[in-house]
Amino acid sequence: MANVVKTMLAVGACKASRSALRIMHRGGTTTPGRLAMKIDSNILESVSRGMEIIVVTGTNGKTTTSNMIGHALSEAGRDVLANRSGANLLPGVTAEFTSSATATGRPRKHYAVIECDEGALKQVVPKIHPKVIVVTNLFRDQLDRYGEVMHTLEEIRKGIRLVPDAILCLNADDSLTASLALGVPNPVTWFGIDCPVGEQKNVEISDARYCIRCGTEYEYDYHTYAHLGGFRCPKCGYRRIRPAVAVTEIEKVSSSGSIIRMRFGTDGNADRAESADGAGAVAAASAETEQEVTIGLPAVYNIYNGAAAIAAYQAAGFDRSEVISSLADVHSSFGRMETFRLGEVPVQMILVKNPAGCNQALSYLSGLGEDYQAVFCLNDRTADGHDISWIWDADFEKVCGDPHMKHTFVLGDRADDMQLRLKYAGADEKDIEKADGNAELIEKLKQSSVPVFVLPNYTSMLSLRAALGAITGKQEFWKG
Ligand SMILES: [Zn+2]
Repeated sequence: MANVVKTMLAVGACKASRSALRIMHRGGTTTPGRLAMKIDSNILESVSRGMEIIVVTGTNGKTTTSNMIGHALSEAGRDVLANRSGANLLPGVTAEFTSSATATGRPRKHYAVIECDEGALKQVVPKIHPKVIVVTNLFRDQLDRYGEVMHTLEEIRKGIRLVPDAILCLNADDSLTASLALGVPNPVTWFGIDCPVGEQKNVEISDARYCIRCGTEYEYDYHTYAHLGGFRCPKCGYRRIRPAVAVTEIEKVSSSGSIIRMRFGTDGNADRAESADGAGAVAAASAETEQEVTIGLPAVYNIYNGAAAIAAYQAAGFDRSEVISSLADVHSSFGRMETFRLGEVPVQMILVKNPAGCNQALSYLSGLGEDYQAVFCLNDRTADGHDISWIWDADFEKVCGDPHMKHTFVLGDRADDMQLRLKYAGADEKDIEKADGNAELIEKLKQSSVPVFVLPNYTSMLSLRAALGAITGKQEFWKG
């Protein structure tokens, strides 16, 4: 079969199956891509040819960082392809590109920002030849052992080796991510935070305590969060590289966002050359400049995401002032984050239905850096799945030891289980209150003097949302 015919058939099949799935309200993201790949194994190369592509990978912040970059490119009037549906494996990425192409398989858009699963990077990048690859950070997932984060690191490294021309944007503060610069010829640009963040005493490093090159325990000049910070190995000299895109001061962090000072300059890539197998830096910039930057999302890790977005944006050859100005109004990328006001009280609702999503929401809360009240709602109806034991796999310890979490309500069919879980996670019993229904909860929340965060599972979210809608008599406060 002639190539062009194969490509056309693949594009047609992908688009048709995607529409069919949508009509049936089946959000399937893999079938259309798999179908297209089966008809034409080179479909992804064809439909992405000539495009300028930024790929974002890493444990946390992929979606937010991609959204930040994509948002800035669109604001500046560029036509951007993105895989916002969370389809970040090869079939999903293939479906995104293929369904956006013309009938003959030519790309309709010139730019793409693609979030990619760490393990799928090696399959995706040789087909789409990204201009820039961002690695946000590497953390151990809840149930993984340390060996698995090392495995993930190697998977990413395999992907990078397949595209030696791609510019890497790496987190300078993460000793794991930073090691991706070793032994590859790719140009690298670094981002990071130059200053300590939060409590500096008794920081528990669970993910990367020991030097990735020689096994000696790292020393830190300062910590930002988890194993991130100013790390250095006292034995072999492996250490944080001074980044070109750096946060020098955190002026204000609140539930609506952060105001920071940033420095833009040249990477300290000399250190990389010292490490024997380093290579050239991205073309050196001129003198250093400093400026204030507002990031319209709360928490320290969104400061990292913002810095990553700026680094990627300028590495891809765009004017960084575009992304800086759009960061102020970038919206949350949580699938179902909804915000509204109950009288004077700001309330944010984040749907949680499994340990991974729940952990993301809990990290968000623990990174807020200001007082808040939390509400955990748990039902066990058919749409929720009757088994609620997953709450024991979610890391509620992250917030239960946090002095910023002021008062906690539990609600729902399984409120008692939730209460028990929080107690085991270290919450003080007197700080956990069981609310008797939505109406009582809403009355109590109105009295709050701090922002409120509600983490419901599916059916409890529906009922609470309905109760709130009835009270306020309007729907427009929901932000999808
Ligand atoms: Zn070392």
